[in-house]
Amino acid sequence: MKKISVLIPCYNEEKTLPLLYPELVKLMEGLPDYEWEIMFVNDGSADNTLHILQQLRQQDKRVNYVDLSRNFGKEVAMLAGFDYVTGDCMVIVDADLQDPPALIPEMLKYWEEGYEDVYARRRTRGKESWLRKWLSIKFYKLLQRTSRFDVLQNVGDFRLLDRRCINALKRMRESERYTKGMFCWIGFNKKEVEFDRGDRVAGSSSWGYKQLFSLAIDGITSFTSAPLRISTFVGFVVSMLAFIYMIYVFIKALIWGDPVQGYPSMVILILFLGGIQLLSLGIIGEYIGRIYNETKNRPDYIVREFNGVPDMGDEHKD
Ligand code: UDP
Ligand code: MG
Repeated sequence: MKKISVLIPCYNEEKTLPLLYPELVKLMEGLPDYEWEIMFVNDGSADNTLHILQQLRQQDKRVNYVDLSRNFGKEVAMLAGFDYVTGDCMVIVDADLQDPPALIPEMLKYWEEGYEDVYARRRTRGKESWLRKWLSIKFYKLLQRTSRFDVLQNVGDFRLLDRRCINALKRMRESERYTKGMFCWIGFNKKEVEFDRGDRVAGSSSWGYKQLFSLAIDGITSFTSAPLRISTFVGFVVSMLAFIYMIYVFIKALIWGDPVQGYPSMVILILFLGGIQLLSLGIIGEYIGRIYNETKNRPDYIVREFNGVPDMGDEHKD
């Protein structure tokens, strides 16, 4: 019997879990030919989430939970899930029912046909401000243009992945993660299904603009070094112009002499060059910061317990 894992990262989801679980039960009962495993990852929730997961585990042995020692963010919580799931394939689902489990049977159908990565594309995006929508469109355009593989727009983490994809993802251990890009990077046979993304059933989204901005920077820096190239290019063009201007000033001074003048042009040059240098330094700094983080080689996450068994941290899991 094939085993299906459902991976659900949870951060402060005490309100949504009681609504989500019955949906999952409905799903599992509708497809009794598979063996099921539900893998919750409690990403350091500050509310009652862990307690609810413990109770679910007690009533239903198909439910498993990994309890992380603090909030590591959804990207890392998913990595922890990749390490712990044991299924032949895995479906990643948000806890807030924005990713309808009702779509999973269709995904499984395509998986049985041989597709290794069945992803769900949002036909609509649910309630969101126009600014957020616009920024998201611009961000994907930028990534698309600067990286060598397709990064899909309007596709979230809601997808079914074959064991081969899971193993590939497990080998990508970087700590500043942009998982959406990784799904595309690993390749494999992809298939699209469409769905309408509803609104959160309860609780509130933990992604403010600040988190989204930092996810966008992670996305860009971990998949393309184009900004570095842009700063090289701008630096090159500017220094060419500066060189030409230098010759012009030099010749002018030789021929006509130079009564002290040119304060405006001086200030303009200083400001302009200074600005570009700061910008380039900033871009370089972003990358160096990431190199620094990766070289520390810390574990990506720390587990407190798995299904009630404390993790003492003396055994490596990778
Ligand atoms: N999540 C998580 N860790 C975090 C933030 C979110 O595991 O630090 C989980 C959250 O519990 C949910 C999923 O990631 O299952 C998506 O989060 P949310 O609904 O807040 O994001 P949105 O749907 O607004 O993108
Ligand atoms: Mg959500």
